[in-house]
Amino acid sequence: MKKILEISNLKKNYHTNNEEVCALNDISFDIYEGEFVSIVGPSGCGKSTILSILNNIIDKSEGSISILNGYKLAYMLQDDCLLPFKTVMENCLIGLRVNNNLTEESKEYVIELLRKYGLYDFMNKYPSNLSGGMRQRCALIRTLALKPDILLLDEAMSSLDYQTRLNIGEDIFKIIKNEGKTAIMVTHDIGEAISMSDRVIVLTERPSTVRSIYNIKLKSKSSPINNRKDPLFAKYFDLIWRDLNG
Ligand code: ADP
Repeated sequence: MKKILEISNLKKNYHTNNEEVCALNDISFDIYEGEFVSIVGPSGCGKSTILSILNNIIDKSEGSISILNGYKLAYMLQDDCLLPFKTVMENCLIGLRVNNNLTEESKEYVIELLRKYGLYDFMNKYPSNLSGGMRQRCALIRTLALKPDILLLDEAMSSLDYQTRLNIGEDIFKIIKNEGKTAIMVTHDIGEAISMSDRVIVLTERPSTVRSIYNIKLKSKSSPINNRKDPLFAKYFDLIWRDLNG
């Protein structure tokens, strides 16, 4: 497999008025093309900080990040952040507009994605007309419109109730796989991480380091929900639970 991202000895200190907080102490891992990798860890250990550094929202303090030449990252936030006064189509075009990348071709690509993923008939509707699942798909299409190679998902489904979350996780996973993207997902939900991922990276408490990395070998490559029924699922759950609580 082709290595497309390498994070080495990443460190992040936050400076506030009267103190310095060391969020990341020493984080190293690699990402390979086509992988779905989840990062789990205790609340406040720096999971989101890693994604913000990768996405250039904040600076690292030390360490290095190398991304294979020409590979693009895109971020999908916790909330779907759809603008209520813009149509589905307009919402999906926002990233392209902001990046000065809106062309007939890129618009055609968005229409193709809307068609493929069941939102074509809703393109002139507003977000309030969409179900929770459709809103998440719309947010994902807005991100895919930028043609990223690596998607950064930050607790993308955390605001949803459990059942919706399972169904939407299934949806999002299938779209990401179908589009051949690499994904790095931050989540506090161990089950979500195991059922969707090829690898799970477990972080320690802050100041965090990598505690363990699990290669997840569950039967289904296409359905996170089915993976939850795999006997190995409980085994991985137990190991990661122990890492987080031990
Ligand atoms: P997680 O995503 O694992 O919950 P975060 O990456 O959001 O953790 O935060 C890691 C730590 O860094 C937390 O203790 C948080 O309080 C601190 N932190 C995050 N952002 C800032 C900031 N802008 N200024 C100071 N401290 C911050």
